[in-house]
Amino acid sequence: MKQEGILIIISGPSGTGKSTIVKEFINRNNDVELSVSATTRKIRPGEQEGKNYFFLSKKDFTEKLKEESFLEYAEVYGNYYGTPRDFVDEKLKAGKNVLLEIDTEGALQIKDKFPQGVFIFIVPPSINELQRRINSRGTETEEEVERRLNSSLEEIKQLTHYDYVVMNDHISDAVQLIEAILKAEKVSVLRSGNYWLSTFTS
Ligand code: ADP
Ligand code: 5GP
Repeated sequence: MKQEGILIIISGPSGTGKSTIVKEFINRNNDVELSVSATTRKIRPGEQEGKNYFFLSKKDFTEKLKEESFLEYAEVYGNYYGTPRDFVDEKLKAGKNVLLEIDTEGALQIKDKFPQGVFIFIVPPSINELQRRINSRGTETEEEVERRLNSSLEEIKQLTHYDYVVMNDHISDAVQLIEAILKAEKVSVLRSGNYWLSTFTS
């Protein structure tokens, strides 16, 4: 029987560098597939439909919600975001590892359904650096930057629900740490114990 893939969940405050880390991680790790979420947020310059997100109207998002197309969903900073259920289910069943970059509310919904998931929380080196990064991205209005910063501290309190905390000071260090976590998780007794038992005791 094929072993199910590992579900990796990455969260952290806006501007902490999640998307940057995830992009680098996916480029370097062919055995992990990124789940592309649906959102009602406006597309940012440089983003691509189907690559960064599936950009939906509120009406279409609500329609998909009624059809139970999302594994989880949440309202974040006034927009809706959801994880397409079929993609995740199919990949995991096929033994592929899947990465979700989602907010803490969505992550808690996933934890109910996939307690065996690997939950990783990314923190910035400091609040000042977080503010600098959100501003440097230059994609949000001043009001939006303020709103995201204010909710950061609340979000950081949620890290107690996660398995690992990774500080994003230098991107390559953060990516390597996540690679180390995945390596260790693959050989955990929880995931590989039955395989070894059947190899040596049958
Ligand atoms: P998030 O996805 O968490 O909202 P982004 O990946 O969009 O954050 O990063 C926010 C900004 O910070 C971007 O301009 C990005 O280039 C920058 N950034 C990300 N990681 C680092 C880092 N380790 N050092 C300096 N700048 C970073
Ligand atoms: P952004 O608008 O900066 O791309 O993302 C805002 C927040 O929404 C981030 O915290 C991001 O992790 C979260 N997010 C992105 N996709 C999803 C999703 O499918 N579900 C949930 N719950 N949150 C998501």
